[in-house]
Amino acid sequence: MSRIYLDHAATTPMDPDVLNAMLPYMGARFGNASSIHAEGRNAQRAVDTARKQLAAAIGADAGEVYFTSGGTESDNWALKGAAFANRAKGTHIISTPIEHHAVLHTLDWLQKQGFTVTFLPVDGDGLVKASDLERAITPETILVSVMAANNEIGTLEPIQELGALVRERGVLFHTDAVQAIGAIPVDVREWQVDMLSLSAHKFHGPMGMGALYIRKGVSVERLVHGGAQERGRRASTENLPGIVGLGSAIEKACGGVCENAARLTALREKLIQGILSAIPETRLNGHPTLRLPGNVNISIRYIEGEALLLRLDMAGISASSGSACTSGSLDPSHVLLAIGLDHATAHGSLRLSLGTGNQLQDVEQTLAVLPGIVESLRAMSPLYTRG
Ligand SMILES: *Cc1c(COP(=O)(O)O)cnc(C)c1O
Repeated sequence: MSRIYLDHAATTPMDPDVLNAMLPYMGARFGNASSIHAEGRNAQRAVDTARKQLAAAIGADAGEVYFTSGGTESDNWALKGAAFANRAKGTHIISTPIEHHAVLHTLDWLQKQGFTVTFLPVDGDGLVKASDLERAITPETILVSVMAANNEIGTLEPIQELGALVRERGVLFHTDAVQAIGAIPVDVREWQVDMLSLSAHKFHGPMGMGALYIRKGVSVERLVHGGAQERGRRASTENLPGIVGLGSAIEKACGGVCENAARLTALREKLIQGILSAIPETRLNGHPTLRLPGNVNISIRYIEGEALLLRLDMAGISASSGSACTSGSLDPSHVLLAIGLDHATAHGSLRLSLGTGNQLQDVEQTLAVLPGIVESLRAMSPLYTRG
């Protein structure tokens, strides 16, 4: 039996059309976009095309998007670049405790450089409240960073409402939209964001390829110094196949966003209701409706997430857990702790993230095997007594 991949929040398989678009640029269509000869001009044309595809997909102008090495670099650049460019105005930054580590660890570093960071509270579903943000802004505030969609629990933040509020105060607003692109409609003007991060491998494009939207006129220090690529704002020879792949992938992903979202939402609900009704002592993490179409995150009491993942893997199902195993120690997810889960409940969580390749039978097969696996794991747990 073929495997069932339910970990699209971690990475997505490359779309065959994207791969086909990239292949010539890994071979005969090589060239350095800075060179003036034919190979160079061809490369520059391919970069220009991809830049237009990217800009169109998020409602930006081509002059406002910059290619990077991924979502992590985009987050680093946005936060460090905006912080240092605006240091004379103030040193206060506002964010949330449920951001990706690419944001949280960058903020840790900025605190060591003399910036102060306020982390807004989130409610039990992981939502940020505009009134809390409004209260947190001071005359010293230079930057707000709130993710568009959470990668663990799938909660969608009210970016448009927060964006309007932040814009009104003359403060810069960054959003990590890595999980949002291709999953929900994204428009930088509607959202009123100044900076937006995205990553190609999360929407069926290549790994090691991302982009940062920087609104026209917003000053951001460089992160990568060197040559004059990306209009002098991000050095290094263009990753030509990667850029072509990002352009092709984002055009396709954002073109089909609505049909895809409707189909994945139906599969998601079947999976959620199926698990909650078949397995006792389970709870859904994240907002019930304001969530990514393909995201399922469930806490299963009296279960270790890692053990569950191994058993699912043996059954041919690839999933993920809320507990990240870092250097041998099991740290429960910072996101699950931030929404109020205790350590034991956070350890027993399961993330199933659906993608375009998934079909109804994948959901049915998962629902067929999961209750039995949970039952056998619980039978080994001294804490669990069947009710
Ligand atoms: C995957 C992810 C990132 C990191 O992107 P990379 O391209 O893997 O560096 C950042 N933020 C979120 C929300 C993500 O899901």
